[in-house]
Amino acid sequence: MDNVNERLEALKKTLNQYAYEYYVLDQPSVPDSEYDRLLNELIQLESEHPEWITPDSPTQRVGGEPLKGFSKVVHRSPMLSLGNAFNEQDLREFDRRVRQAVGERVAYVCELKIDGLAVSLTYENGQFVLGATRGDGTTGEDITTNLKTIRSIPLVLKEPVSVEVRGEAYMPKRSFVSLNEQREENGEALFANPRNAAAGSLRQLDPRITASRNLDIFLYALGEGYPQHIEAHSEGLKWMQSIGLRTNPEWERCESVEEVMAFIEKWTVGRPNLPYEIDGIVIKVDDLHQQQELGFTAKSPRWAIAYKFPAEEVVTVLEDIELNVGRTGVVTPTAVLTPVQVAGTTVKRASLHNEDLIREKDIRIGDSVVIKKAGDIIPEVVNVLTDRRTGNEAPFSMPETCPECGSKLVRIEGEVALRCLNPKCPAQIREGLIHFVSRNAMNIDGLGEKVITALFENNLIEDVADLYKLTFDQLIQLERMGEKSVNNLLEAIQASKENSLERLLVGLGIRFVGEKAARTLAAHFGSMDALAEASEEALLEVEEIGEKMADSLVTYFKSDEVQDLLGELKELGVNMVYKGQAVDATLIEDSPFLNKTVVLTGKLEQLSRKEAEEAIGRLGGKVTSSVSKKTDLVIAGEEAGSKLTKAESLGIEIWTEAQLMEALM
Ligand code: NAD
Repeated sequence: MDNVNERLEALKKTLNQYAYEYYVLDQPSVPDSEYDRLLNELIQLESEHPEWITPDSPTQRVGGEPLKGFSKVVHRSPMLSLGNAFNEQDLREFDRRVRQAVGERVAYVCELKIDGLAVSLTYENGQFVLGATRGDGTTGEDITTNLKTIRSIPLVLKEPVSVEVRGEAYMPKRSFVSLNEQREENGEALFANPRNAAAGSLRQLDPRITASRNLDIFLYALGEGYPQHIEAHSEGLKWMQSIGLRTNPEWERCESVEEVMAFIEKWTVGRPNLPYEIDGIVIKVDDLHQQQELGFTAKSPRWAIAYKFPAEEVVTVLEDIELNVGRTGVVTPTAVLTPVQVAGTTVKRASLHNEDLIREKDIRIGDSVVIKKAGDIIPEVVNVLTDRRTGNEAPFSMPETCPECGSKLVRIEGEVALRCLNPKCPAQIREGLIHFVSRNAMNIDGLGEKVITALFENNLIEDVADLYKLTFDQLIQLERMGEKSVNNLLEAIQASKENSLERLLVGLGIRFVGEKAARTLAAHFGSMDALAEASEEALLEVEEIGEKMADSLVTYFKSDEVQDLLGELKELGVNMVYKGQAVDATLIEDSPFLNKTVVLTGKLEQLSRKEAEEAIGRLGGKVTSSVSKKTDLVIAGEEAGSKLTKAESLGIEIWTEAQLMEALM
């Protein structure tokens, strides 16, 4: 019992501190997901012990206290928060409660949940007279002068009505980026996100600063004084728009949870293309009479709920740091994490890249860390919550010897990485084999990391040539390998012998030779023999081949071991010539891609990305991965995201997939 009470008090204290940092200082110290997680724990405990709920509990309050320096405004009706839903089940539960209270005929309005801050605007006879923040829900701050700097807030409405309306003031993504760029230049602290930047900008005592921040607003609710004829929230939205108030156009009326889910789905995907941040979807009962019937809890309306998108930043514990030796001998530290959900997937590990980064972020074993997915894919440690340290955290330093083979690790000048230089290091050999069979190299189906590791550990393979000597009897001994999979595997290995030269080049893992260079080299020289004999000068004549790569190739082919390996592969029947189409000058004479830099984005339906790249390459174009001023053309498939937005903003020519197909005909 005591323990529960202690936990309850601790949670309240921590949450109140976080809420103060967030609402009053506009400087959160933890991600929202962490606040939400602790808040949910508190809600759970309080529901088990309702006798312990106190008025200072964050579950009983909205927002934060008003800042000194602004005069206070008491809201005519409280400005509340919203209940949260994190998944479909929560939404179904909400829908069930609503239907139980008002009957089966219910329609919802789904709106984007704009990530800004709630404000109230009061108009008297059509004149804008008062603007306020939400504050603690009952009392806010008078920020009229600051709000007047937002150009989309009309000072006079199209009709002389007296009404209070509410909405979200926000900072568009573009303004946020340029504000932070400017702050960086001036050496000022950066805003963590557009919401904080918007809140900070609106609560400036000097309205000139607010004016310079390019804020905007969407109104989403009617307060007191709206016309009697309005009987639904959706009608209210239309009415606000008609009298000159800016509302968000992306709302939809939905009649079932399925339709609501479809709306959520649509914006989960479409979110990056919006010019402002959203952090979820708000679902509101449309009928105002039904809203009234449902009423409010202390903190939020019962007729609305906010669906929150899966968190992109979460807190977890770094349990250990593991070392991995890669194909090129680089030793990479990897964080082993207490598994957590980040933006919809479970994350258990995150690369820490190198020792410098660990030191810079002062990452210790046992630390609570904030994790996010960089570029939405690769998990990364953002920072450490140092104030959660107990004193038991252990600093980490890189070992002096290779964790796999014991050789001394070396730091090559100009590099941050530590390397194992032993060419016989088993980890490097294993990783090299995994790379050889991988999709972009020899692409051998059924040969993944696990099978390669098993083959290697059973001493069945030592180098890539051994793969082509494997027999049925050897493979069938491996765990979980049935007759059928062995036969399939042998067939796939056999088939890989026919691969065009560039795949083999990639597979060999020659330093600095990536997929693109491999293709260029294969197309230019036509065969392994010709490439192996090429001088540095001859290599440098090939477009896109620089000194580093030429040097690396010459050194590679000089080695006796490499010569032996290539000889053996040839004897085993592995193809050593280029089979792709040569870049044909006559074909590309009138090619729309000739000497153009092209970026592909979004999903293509009729071609794989690789096929599209190859086709454009054959026609003399160059495909790169990121959009910049140098890009000539962007081809946007379905669900194209930020690259498309960027291309639009740079005024770059944009094609659909259909246009691409036409050009390839
Ligand atoms: P909320 O985000 O749960 O939702 C309510 C708010 O949504 C409204 O007040 C309004 O401002 C906004 N909104 C946006 N679009 C809307 C629309 N179309 N219709 C209606 N409302 C719309 O509300 P909250 O009470 O402001 O705050 C809780 C949030 O603040 C949580 O996300 C929480 O994680 C975060 N928080 C974080 C910390 C921290 O330390 N990181 C501390 C406190 C709170």
